[in-house]
Amino acid sequence: MLPPIASRFVAGESPATALQRTRELNDRDVGAILNRLGEHYDEPEPAAEDAAAYRRLVGDIADGGLDACISIKPSQLGLDLGESLFRTHLEDVVARAADRGVFVWIDMEDHTTTDATLDAFEDLAREHDGGVGVCVQANLRRTREDVERLAGVPGKVRFVKGAYDEPAEIAYTDGEAIDRSYEELLSYAFEQYEGGIAVGSHDPAMIEHATDLHATHGTPFEIQMLMGVREEAQYDLAADYPVYQYVPYGDRWLSYFYRRLAEKTGNLRFALRAILGR
Ligand code: FAD
Repeated sequence: MLPPIASRFVAGESPATALQRTRELNDRDVGAILNRLGEHYDEPEPAAEDAAAYRRLVGDIADGGLDACISIKPSQLGLDLGESLFRTHLEDVVARAADRGVFVWIDMEDHTTTDATLDAFEDLAREHDGGVGVCVQANLRRTREDVERLAGVPGKVRFVKGAYDEPAEIAYTDGEAIDRSYEELLSYAFEQYEGGIAVGSHDPAMIEHATDLHATHGTPFEIQMLMGVREEAQYDLAADYPVYQYVPYGDRWLSYFYRRLAEKTGNLRFALRAILGR
């Protein structure tokens, strides 16, 4: 069972907990991005199980009339086992989601997966005339070209700073360079895209840059943040902009929980206080 300490960042182990979290967010004008935790499978069975779970989940979202979409990691649909397995599962999930009117995000993993992920996104976004989104990472030097390539593709693009440690030959590795890259990518997108922009960041400076660009160009966009991170800001921003919260769930929560603790000393302090009961 999910311990209370992890429930700040993870909705629970079952899909029911994720759907309940979605209803609570919707009551506060925030949408949900549901992610079943799992990645880097080296056997086909868990990839097939996750694909089936996502197909059921899009049915539950549609039946419940919820403001929610799903977000999938390529390696949880079997990308480590081969591109065709990943494609087959992703196409199944996207087809079912399109039938039920539920949007599908594709998360971006490390740089070895970028081409396979973007290619799958582009094919499915064209086939389903949008209805699919993909994440791009500002820390990768290649991303400017990728973002230019995606400008003509239907669907949405989520901009993030990038969560993976990448080699310096292909990536910006210091925080200031990544921030500069992020701002430049947003500037390009708000000028060149007609919509379909998601700002996946907790950084007040990046959010302000996006709202300034929106004021200048009028391009529609949405703000996305993680469950358990700057939640009050999410509720405040939802008064003026579409806001979506990334809500992970499932029994593979441990490594995700550790990642959240490791990335911010404030989160570590929160965990220690919870453990010490203070
Ligand atoms: P940071 O650079 O971490 O922090 C900048 C500032 O933001 C801080 O100085 C502080 O003011 C504020 N801040 C940040 N965290 C906190 C906190 N915990 N509490 C209070 N203030 C805080 N990465 C991928 O590589 N692939 C993905 O598919 C992907 N999807 C994502 C989806 C969503 C919805 C989000 C929000 C992130 C996703 N990421 C993904 C992670 C992303 O790449 C970053 O690693 C992560 O968001 C941290 O960068 P940041 O822009 O939030 O701000």
